[in-house]
Amino acid sequence: MTGPIAAESAGAERGQIIAPGATIGILGGGQLGRMTAMAAARLGYRVHSYCPEADSPAFQVSATSTTAAYEDRDALARFAGSVDVITFEFENVPSATAELLAAMKPTRPRPQVLHICQHRLREKTFLRDHGFPVTRFEPVRTAEDLRRVMPGFGAAILKTAGFGYDGKGQYRVRTLADAEKAWAAMGAQEAVLEAVVDFEAELSVVGVRSAEGECAFFEPFRNTHVNGILDVTTSPAPFDRKITQQAHELARAVLEALNVTGVLCVEFFLGQGRELLINELAPRPHNSGHLTIDACITSQFEQQLRAVCGLPLGSTLMLRPAAMANLLGDLWNDSEPDWAAACSLPEVKLHLYGKSDARPGRKMGHLTATAEAPESAERIVRAARSMLVGEHGAEQIMPPSATARR
Ligand code: AMP
Repeated sequence: MTGPIAAESAGAERGQIIAPGATIGILGGGQLGRMTAMAAARLGYRVHSYCPEADSPAFQVSATSTTAAYEDRDALARFAGSVDVITFEFENVPSATAELLAAMKPTRPRPQVLHICQHRLREKTFLRDHGFPVTRFEPVRTAEDLRRVMPGFGAAILKTAGFGYDGKGQYRVRTLADAEKAWAAMGAQEAVLEAVVDFEAELSVVGVRSAEGECAFFEPFRNTHVNGILDVTTSPAPFDRKITQQAHELARAVLEALNVTGVLCVEFFLGQGRELLINELAPRPHNSGHLTIDACITSQFEQQLRAVCGLPLGSTLMLRPAAMANLLGDLWNDSEPDWAAACSLPEVKLHLYGKSDARPGRKMGHLTATAEAPESAERIVRAARSMLVGEHGAEQIMPPSATARR
């Protein structure tokens, strides 16, 4: 693999500690910002969240919030003037915004990391050029590109190059006619054509790197997706030590190659031949790492703050096997889920993001269960989610001890 790209961003000083009591600026106001702000409050920091949408989930738990466009230079300057360090909970912040802020205050990770990771084509090209294993892909910028590359693929996925997440902007295609239809449906914008991977499992590694280059990694998480959206995460994952080691080594090499200060998640496919392929990077805390709040000594959100503020990284040790189930807006189905039913399971923790509009596919919250073994944690968390919508099958699928309140 080739060496790392450019050094620290302007304004960030190595070795500088931003001590509790300081104010952390967070770009983006979603649930990741909300959970980061909650971790920050516990450490004694104040948070100023900046997001274009009013009443964002992070605003409800931040000391200060700004509702303004990412292009509003005056609002950005006021924001930068009010904080000691800046980070992101959302990688699709425009590059110009990140660069502007980095010129005013220490900004972690560097804007260049966002620039690469917010665009599938740049990200995949970066990974391939640095020798990382990635799914076979081809850029599609014109109709001619599509006609030229499609015959080389069997089953493929056409993905928009920018602003894609949770399976949005993705189309499975088999023939050139399919692909042309899909490309027209996405507005003939820059895209990536990618081979479909016949994977055995999906896993992710959440890693963190300090400004001095110290790294820490959580155990790999095993992820199952439904309709391209993360559904359930379980950890520890049932993979042999060699796969865990390889996944950690790859994650470390990505953190170093990108010269990241902060948390970064690497999503992998585990192929049928037990080989690891990198699917995606997220330069921030990730949905698959939410179980670290309830199951690990240090959560991914606290790690992000420690790295961004120059504090020593915390232990990633998992105290108990755990599973996390996402709660999408679909669960509401015209009536409020039965929160008391899920909370009646003592191993289950409820996390809601304070969103008032429960749209289908929208992440509204999650449940985490901890147990003696990851399989039991997964059974419990799935049962708890079923109980939210009146499917009281939990007693049959769980050992009696799991339903008895301590
Ligand atoms: P992404 O937004 O690219 O992470 O895709 C969301 C989900 O779609 C992944 O977690 C996989 O479950 C599925 N997916 C994406 N790309 C591929 C691929 N090349 N082969 C098979 N499944 C894929």
